[in-house]
Amino acid sequence: MDLADREVLISILNENKIFLKKSLGQNFLVNKNIIEKIISYGELKKTDIILEIGAGIGTLTVELAKYSKKVIAVEIDKRFEKILMEMVKDFKNIEIIIGDILKIDLSSIIEKPFKIFGNLPYYVSGSFLGEYLKKGPYADLMILMLQKEMAERIMSKPGSKKFSPLSLLLELTYKVDVICSVPSHFFFPAPEVDSLLLKFKFSPKLDSIRDKELFFRLIKSSFKYRRKYLINNLKREFPLYPWEEIFKKLNIDFKKRAEDLSLENYIDLSNFILKYGNKNSLLCEDNLIS
Ligand code: SAM
Repeated sequence: MDLADREVLISILNENKIFLKKSLGQNFLVNKNIIEKIISYGELKKTDIILEIGAGIGTLTVELAKYSKKVIAVEIDKRFEKILMEMVKDFKNIEIIIGDILKIDLSSIIEKPFKIFGNLPYYVSGSFLGEYLKKGPYADLMILMLQKEMAERIMSKPGSKKFSPLSLLLELTYKVDVICSVPSHFFFPAPEVDSLLLKFKFSPKLDSIRDKELFFRLIKSSFKYRRKYLINNLKREFPLYPWEEIFKKLNIDFKKRAEDLSLENYIDLSNFILKYGNKNSLLCEDNLIS
């Protein structure tokens, strides 16, 4: 059965009396070429362990299983459980988990090395990537379909209005390439916007950060009030550091906004402020050092 065929999908949904939910981003792929592209760019080997996010009725799941050792597929919608079990019954290497990817501790379901595949709903992509890129466990490779707006947001560069903590986190962990643009009519039902198919290769720069917790807090605080000068955001969130002195030492203009600094600038900043003493006593106003 060709699950990527629009008519097949519609008849399976009708037989099971399932109305797709917009709130869960249920726009299913109905284009075989894109599925083939996902598989080929995934550089699959028979030793690969795969995490699939949002299995739906298993369209991508069974294709992934043909070329890998094991697929662990997570799907939030319990209504698909019966269909999924039926679709994957001939594959001993597929494990279905009915659950919310935003609530699952990934290290409890998968071990490194592994790859991630998914056609991610818009509402999931930002939250998932935001948390995942901070703590891992990091997949060696990810092939993700993201709505164009989200894809452009995470890939934006310093100086762009779209530049955000998510772009910084991504640059810190993965190298991203656009595989292709995917028009909305390749999905059923067609979403309002097109998507981009992206390939993420693990390429970490995390080791150059001396205190990751401080770094993450620093970028979150920097972008909290995007229209204000960066130095004022930092003064507000970390009042006990001598920010004028730090900016001068690092040659950062007082009039820069959060989006103007590069990843390297933020790494330098977070490493540099460590020399001003124990961050825990400095960060909290209650612990003022006299
Ligand atoms: N993989 C299928 C495909 O490509 O045709 C379905 C993709 S559809 C865009 C997204 C899938 O993710 C839906 O089946 C939806 O129910 C599921 N989903 C939505 N939110 C989720 C979450 N928080 N955790 C796990 N799955 C989720």
